[in-house]
Amino acid sequence: MTSLRSPRSAAIVLLLAGLTTTACGGGEAPSPTAAPAAAPVESPGTTAAASTGSGGAGSGGAASPDGSSTSVGSPTATVSPTPSVSPTPAGPPPFSAVVEKVSRDEVRHSWHPGCPVPVSDLRKIRMTYWGFDDKAHTGVLVVNRSAAQDMVTVFRKLYGFRFPIHRMEPVDVYKGSDNDSIDADNTSAFNCRSATGSSSWSQHAYGLAVDIDPRENPYVYADGSNAHRNADAFVDRPLRKPGVINAGDRVVRAFAAIGWGWGGAWSGAKDYQHFSSNGR
Ligand SMILES: [Zn+2]
Repeated sequence: MTSLRSPRSAAIVLLLAGLTTTACGGGEAPSPTAAPAAAPVESPGTTAAASTGSGGAGSGGAASPDGSSTSVGSPTATVSPTPSVSPTPAGPPPFSAVVEKVSRDEVRHSWHPGCPVPVSDLRKIRMTYWGFDDKAHTGVLVVNRSAAQDMVTVFRKLYGFRFPIHRMEPVDVYKGSDNDSIDADNTSAFNCRSATGSSSWSQHAYGLAVDIDPRENPYVYADGSNAHRNADAFVDRPLRKPGVINAGDRVVRAFAAIGWGWGGAWSGAKDYQHFSSNGR
């Protein structure tokens, strides 16, 4: 994009180019109408239709409240009626969530006949989450349909907090292995399995429990040990590190607001990653 001309003549050329594109419309510079299509930020596949404005807090700049019409820094800015602000990058997208039914095939490994809820009672939530890379991402959480709206409420808050989540994939991606999902630091909910160290169903088997950042928030046995070597640095609490959940913090309060309890509050073994509708 560098020109050999002097800055002044280059500016004139740019201005002329901007003027001529309005006439011929075929120039290489993006036309103003094409700009919004190219605008969206990092996260692929956020569904604008379902986006619920959650106040893109620190999106920087006093631009449009919606943030969607930021056609910044284009060379044609000189002919644009809106005075171009300084070339700040577009802020993170607003939180969005889409709730859909789950097919049998999508829970091939994590559901089987005899599970306490039928597949028809499960929902997948495709929603925005904030990553450890300080960018917005889209993940999928499978939950009981009775909990879907509450989960959207909570995860919208977490996104607003910029609470980082490493990844968010259905446990079926790990062939239903809770162990592998934990090792991948995956945030997940539904999994038709027994509770750890028990023969009765886990709340995960009902889609009424969620595990958040299991590496940063390990299951710690009463003797202080944990089963995942990648989590050793996260056993002691309180701990001020990204993705770590501490007693009484805003993550715990966000779940408390929908009536869900935290495994970090248990006596004996503590499950810092775990939130559930009945507190178990
Ligand atoms: Zn759990």
